[in-house]
Amino acid sequence: MQQSELNDRVSERHDRAWEVNTLENEKGRWNVYLGLCKGCGLCVEKCPVKVIEWSKELGFMGTPSVRARMDGCIVCGICQTVCPDAAIHVEKKGKGAPPEAVPVS
Ligand code: SF4
Ligand code: SF4
Repeated sequence: MQQSELNDRVSERHDRAWEVNTLENEKGRWNVYLGLCKGCGLCVEKCPVKVIEWSKELGFMGTPSVRARMDGCIVCGICQTVCPDAAIHVEKKGKGAPPEAVPVS
């Protein structure tokens, strides 16, 4: 890879770092940050109920990102733990969940 191409990818990763896709079910919310996902597939492999699939949305390497089928997601957080790039954030709802963030005005 040429240095200029590498620089462009780093710049795009920075720009897209906080672009997030959020999916939700009654147990919680599942978020993937597209600018951090490199499409390695580790989360797909490790999800205990096999509900993570490839998405049409691209990550920063130009490879497919991922999405969770929320009808089967148990919000266990394993995908968040195994992702080497901290691209997934899982939020539990209900008992034991942290309080909702309140925007500062
Ligand atoms: S939170 Fe658990 S069940 Fe849901 S997608 Fe991640 S690993 Fe799979
Ligand atoms: S483990 Fe992280 S970087 Fe790899 S495909 Fe899943 S979300 Fe993307």
